[in-house]
Amino acid sequence: MTEEQAPISPEATAAVKAYLEDITTGKCPTCHQLVQEEKQVGRCVYALPCWHRMYQGKAKPKPEKIHPYLLEQLEQERRQEP
Ligand SMILES: [Zn+2]
Repeated sequence: MTEEQAPISPEATAAVKAYLEDITTGKCPTCHQLVQEEKQVGRCVYALPCWHRMYQGKAKPKPEKIHPYLLEQLEQERRQEP
């Protein structure tokens, strides 16, 4: 069996799952903080305010400005999810 045919390890699967979960819930996959804006730089999309790279592709349009209090509430709700 060559390396290309090796099955994906559970660790790699979990890492990919966690990454996708962060992306879909609007969090930075590197530091897991709430992304307030996605910034397009060349072909890559960066998370603001931390400037970690999120993915390659097109940034989502800037969301409506959310009140910091509301952001905190959203973050708390997400933390309570299993
Ligand atoms: Zn980050």
